[in-house]
Amino acid sequence: MKERTLRFTSAKAMAKLLIGVFALVAAVVGGVIWLGIATERTVEENARQLVDRHIPELDAIGAMQAAVGAQVNQLYLYYATTNSSGFRDASESLRAKIRRQSMLLARAEFVADHERLTAHLKGFDEAVASFDREMAGPNRDWDALREHLAVAQKEADSMQAVLNELSGRIQSAASAGGSRTLEAIARLAWLQTSFNLSVVVVSAFILVALYGWVRYAGILAHRAYHDDLTELPNRRKLEKDLAGLLAESRGKAGGLILVNPDRLKLLSGTFGHAVVDALIVAFTRRLQEALAAQPDSTRLYSFSNGTWAILFRDDAARSGAQRIGKLLPTLTATPLTLADRDFTLAVSAGLAAFPADGDDPATLFRNADAALRLAQAAGGNRLHYYSREMSEQAVAWLSTEAALRQALTADQFELHYQPKIAAASGAVAGSEALIRWRRDGRLESPAVFIPVAEESGLIVPIGDWVLQAACRQWMTWRQAGLPALPVAVNISAQQFQQPDFPAKVAAALAATGMPAASLELEITEAVAADHPEKVVATMAALKATGVTLAIDDFGTGYSSLSYLKRFPLDTLKIDQSFVRAMESNANDATIVHLILGLARELGFKVVAEGVETERQRRLLADGGCDLLQGYLFSRPLPAAEFAAFVAPATTP
Ligand code: C2E
Ligand code: MG
Ligand code: MG
Repeated sequence: MKERTLRFTSAKAMAKLLIGVFALVAAVVGGVIWLGIATERTVEENARQLVDRHIPELDAIGAMQAAVGAQVNQLYLYYATTNSSGFRDASESLRAKIRRQSMLLARAEFVADHERLTAHLKGFDEAVASFDREMAGPNRDWDALREHLAVAQKEADSMQAVLNELSGRIQSAASAGGSRTLEAIARLAWLQTSFNLSVVVVSAFILVALYGWVRYAGILAHRAYHDDLTELPNRRKLEKDLAGLLAESRGKAGGLILVNPDRLKLLSGTFGHAVVDALIVAFTRRLQEALAAQPDSTRLYSFSNGTWAILFRDDAARSGAQRIGKLLPTLTATPLTLADRDFTLAVSAGLAAFPADGDDPATLFRNADAALRLAQAAGGNRLHYYSREMSEQAVAWLSTEAALRQALTADQFELHYQPKIAAASGAVAGSEALIRWRRDGRLESPAVFIPVAEESGLIVPIGDWVLQAACRQWMTWRQAGLPALPVAVNISAQQFQQPDFPAKVAAALAATGMPAASLELEITEAVAADHPEKVVATMAALKATGVTLAIDDFGTGYSSLSYLKRFPLDTLKIDQSFVRAMESNANDATIVHLILGLARELGFKVVAEGVETERQRRLLADGGCDLLQGYLFSRPLPAAEFAAFVAPATTP
């Protein structure tokens, strides 16, 4: 969670940073481009001035100076030779040229110079005209002629001076423009370098951002197809792979196995989710290691939190299933050690094979899940195969759960009592209360509905009812004159773990007035999955009320005998599977004898359940078993019939 928030914040910060850097980079690049354009304009403007203005103006000035010089030369030639041939035409065309060129200088800036030039040209023209008249006249006055020549020369010199001055100004303007251009060109070079640099920086930044994005996208893609806790490919990936496998493996078979630890709710209720998560991770590693040795097509997924999916392809689905079916118990055989504590994990598994049990992912998921639920309902620690009947059973399970919710208020439960017989005397020495459900006119066996009640949590209110009903019945029998025979009540692990359970037992005894010593609580080894200190504390609280405690179905659980010493127990009930097998199987007979010997040593009373034959009775009695329970003596009986069963034995 922490990591998720962190990533989320950093994604946000990264977006902000990106926007900021982009804005900065855009501003810098924009500025550089703008400066570049402005500088280029300056250079262009200067060049245009030079080409369009200064050069033609200087040309015009040069042409005018040459024309003025030529005119003066013409004049002197005329004076010297007195030959006027061509003088007038030549001088007219020269003067026209001067006038034409001087038009080029008609800029506002040159108005004053132009006026001066025109005035001197006029003076020059007048002097030339006077000179020509005098030369053409009948009596040439040489003094006057020299006078005119001197005036013309003076005006020509003035024109040259104006033109020189103008040319000087234009040249300095042009050279100022030139140095401005040089500066601008230098700036352009600098701008180009900075622009190149910013391109490099921006490219580097884009590369870094792109790399970050690609990495982030990679993480997102990984998370989309992987489980956060175990890092295994998740259900979405499984669905994809399975769909691919089903599409490609025409004719090929395979299977989907869903694996779920037994009593997971109990574990998380007791040790907390963090411990359960750590257990899931630890068991995931075990599964991964074990499956690595399997054929390549065998793949492990996280189906949901605490449920694994194993997908395999096989020519014969059954052989793959058998392979994995054999593997699972070996994985749970050794306990998982977490923080110096050993946890024994049992797992249940459900298999749906393809194409037999479905040819699309949804159907296979549903059917594997149905098989898994049945494996759990059958006591767990096993692999169940899916079959069509199984899915019918799953439907029945759901309808049972719905009906169970009504059963308590509709008063559909009753208790039957199975006598316990003293092995030595053959007398009735007590009974076990066993629940029955009167459903649609028939009696439903607890084997059918207790697992449903446990899975749905309904076992707690049902258990409360059983406890109170058994106490009430005991009092009714006493009032009817029956002897004070102890009655045993079955307690499920969930009930046992309710914090107020010892208080509930005390309340039931107080409400009915039943003596605590006559009540025995039968608990199963499943309660040992809890913290041993907690189990011991609850047992001590129960013992303090005065009731006795028995371990039911002893020998079928996964716990060792070691807890026997720690727990304040009174009675061991040897599971009927040993009793049934002890006649035919020497091993089981040995186990039964071992249990009997151990119980004797630890001071426990021993009850054997499921005694069906005379031979079993004899073997158990000879072995020192205290109490016997089974069809050999009686089936569980309704309360009234139990009273009748007891009565002949107690009334002489
Ligand atoms: P359990 O406590 O081990 O009860 C013994 C079961 O063995 C009973 O089945 C009983 O009818 C059966 N049985 C007795 N003698 C023989 C015999 O000679 N041969 C065979 N084959 N079976 C014999 P039942 O009544 O169907 O109960 C099944 C289980 O349901 C019980 O096993 C117990 O774990 C659970 N259960 C029954 N009543 C309650 C209850 O009130 N609360 C809880 N939490 N569980 C209950
Ligand atoms: Mg029992
Ligand atoms: Mg039992």
